[in-house]
Amino acid sequence: MKELTCIVCPRGCRLQVDDNMNVTGNFCPRGKAYAISELTNPVRTITTSIRVSNRPHTLVSVKTTNPVPKDKIFDVMKEIDKLSVSAPVRIGQVVKTRVLGLESDIVITKNID
Ligand code: SF4
Repeated sequence: MKELTCIVCPRGCRLQVDDNMNVTGNFCPRGKAYAISELTNPVRTITTSIRVSNRPHTLVSVKTTNPVPKDKIFDVMKEIDKLSVSAPVRIGQVVKTRVLGLESDIVITKNID
């Protein structure tokens, strides 16, 4: 039996998963999907910031468009650290497509005029 906390919504249900992947403790079906994903192919959406090259001491927030495998997070962060943009930038603007060949782009999440 494994125990984990569902992070899909703020309710934070305590989930129990047996050896046959039967899930209990979930208030809704998303918890079951989360538990199975977490135990078979854990993924995370990455949110961070990159430099705005033409604005001194300015960062703009970015995120991955899709969750990436947990074991790739460090490598993706190293790729994101290499990125910068020039203002103006708009929410949804793609900074890098298919980072590390994954099914996820890096996009801007804040407008800077
Ligand atoms: S199981 Fe459903 S209600 Fe509970 S934390 Fe997960 S998403 Fe929220």
